[in-house]
Amino acid sequence: MLLNMNQLLEVAKENKFAVGAFNVADSNFLRTVVEAAEENDSPAIIAVHPTELDFTKDEFFQYVISRVKNSSVPFVVHMDHGDNLASIMRAIHCGFSSVMIDGSLLSFEENIAVTKEVVDVCKKINVSVEGELGTIGNTGTTIEGGVSEVIYTQPEDAIEFIEKTGVDSLAVAIGTAHGIYPKNVKPKLRMDVLEEIEEKVDIPLVLHGGSSNPDEEVARAVQIGIQKVNISSDYKFAFYKKCREILSTTELWDANAIYPDCIVEAKKVITQKMNLFNSVGKATIYRDKNIKPFRNDFS
Ligand SMILES: [Zn+2]
Repeated sequence: MLLNMNQLLEVAKENKFAVGAFNVADSNFLRTVVEAAEENDSPAIIAVHPTELDFTKDEFFQYVISRVKNSSVPFVVHMDHGDNLASIMRAIHCGFSSVMIDGSLLSFEENIAVTKEVVDVCKKINVSVEGELGTIGNTGTTIEGGVSEVIYTQPEDAIEFIEKTGVDSLAVAIGTAHGIYPKNVKPKLRMDVLEEIEEKVDIPLVLHGGSSNPDEEVARAVQIGIQKVNISSDYKFAFYKKCREILSTTELWDANAIYPDCIVEAKKVITQKMNLFNSVGKATIYRDKNIKPFRNDFS
């Protein structure tokens, strides 16, 4: 079933688990995420960065939407790090049920203005909006980018930002970075910052840069009150590690001969993350609630 992010994360918040958002830029990754979710009876989020949408092309999402709509587990199709209203409108036309507007590199006032502009449009058509406050670090290994110095989200700013923009969920900066950390960098999450934000804020909270952080820190963040964790690098790494191995040891060139084993390896990572987020088996809660699937005028 296709839901919007509010419908998905409300249940996660009530039941103290988080849903993984996995970046998808082709049908192999779509299959990996959707099949892993179905095998684990877990909800999942299909995340698509604007550069990934550029690569896949709009028509790909007719397949994505029809695949997840017909599934027995809940999915959200979400634009990750939407950069402006134009890319967000494109995502909505492709049938996405949720978008992120990332104004985190702008001034506080400009971030509020650009986020509110997106919220005003999306509210009318039932599309959920994620905002970001503070900055996510950058390991230099991903398309998502980020900054070299993390600016932690200030709890008081978060309250003001949510009030003024009306966002449905908030990505907070507590010390994670996009990508896989270099060997000499030890990520350390500021749980005290997260605890303070969680106490003061009612809407669901999002952790970006969830790859290659210590499992116990991610699990602790979920316990405190994170409802969505973004994972991209970790599972793609597993996919291409297997792919490199196959290509370097065989003469295969058929997609249906090369990719099945890569999908199996990537699914293992997703299953491990779903266990970490405590989302395994949770799809049943959504089915029991008889939630009305997401619809907008374009889908
Ligand atoms: Zn991100």
